[in-house]
Amino acid sequence: MSQLRLDPLTGRWVVIAGERAQRPSDFLPRRLPVEDDPLRPCPFCPDKDLSISPVVERLGPDGEWEVRVIPNLYPAFSGNDPMVVTHLGPVYTQAPASGVHDVVVLAPDHNVSWADLTHEHSALIMSAIQERMQEHSVIPGLRYSQAVVNSGREAGASIEHPHGQLLSMPFIPGEAANELAGFARFQGNCLLCAVIDAEDESGHRIVFADDRVVMLCPFWSGTPYEMLLLPRSHEAHLHSAEEEDLAAMGRSVQRALASLRSRLGDVAYNLMFHSAPFRTKADFHWHVHVVAKISTRGGFEMGSGVLINVVPPERAADDLRSEIAAHA
Ligand SMILES: [Zn+2]
Ligand SMILES: [Zn+2]
Ligand SMILES: [Zn+2]
Repeated sequence: MSQLRLDPLTGRWVVIAGERAQRPSDFLPRRLPVEDDPLRPCPFCPDKDLSISPVVERLGPDGEWEVRVIPNLYPAFSGNDPMVVTHLGPVYTQAPASGVHDVVVLAPDHNVSWADLTHEHSALIMSAIQERMQEHSVIPGLRYSQAVVNSGREAGASIEHPHGQLLSMPFIPGEAANELAGFARFQGNCLLCAVIDAEDESGHRIVFADDRVVMLCPFWSGTPYEMLLLPRSHEAHLHSAEEEDLAAMGRSVQRALASLRSRLGDVAYNLMFHSAPFRTKADFHWHVHVVAKISTRGGFEMGSGVLINVVPPERAADDLRSEIAAHA
């Protein structure tokens, strides 16, 4: 029997349909690398002469850079025109896409994955994202910053070199608005603090936990093996998080990706960092979503917005936990 579960963050129902599951290897495509164009050398490799200088840089012990943030050459958001909305007739509404669009080069090595990086390196990535998000947060007119990492062609990456993006915009996008509404709807202290308490208690959806971050497969998982990484310390903004919590989150991302890879092979994935909008007092608890790109959205999912997940999160957590135990 399938089961409906409510995602309290977004307010959407998901269908957990465990009996439809094949073995994971039956439905998992391997990650398709983004093919390198010999005429266009990788713009993120260290030996390339950067035509644009980095806005943030983190150096390793040898003085060479390990993480770099550079402006995106093809920004989705740019400039600082105020968010003036224009109505074109009774239906159509437009506004300038002001904002900032950065690229976070995760490592100098073209062929590495975050799953391979050290805990120290992972902490540098988180601190670079934090510094840049902090800078975006004080720009007048900008309201929200979305940090992501896409790996593999199916996940939307257009360059193979490991990188993330930071897009800051003059409005609060739908997904963030849904999650804010989820926090506001919750009849308790904090929705995600309550999730941490509940999972600490039951334990069977926790993949890994230390004293700073809990990594779990959420009860309402809409896709197989999705994970939610929660800092234990209640803080709305990633850019205000303590250094130790950021470093712990970096380690957790590395562990999450390594466990996914050892369970599923080299699959495409998305990381999504959710932080409260800038200058808000609204209740929120920053967190990271890890979503493996192993199932495709069909017409039903797109038409209804209802996801059908064939791997119950309890089974996914069990699988991922044993991968971590095996490699500990
Ligand atoms: Zn490269
Ligand atoms: Zn909280
Ligand atoms: Zn979220």
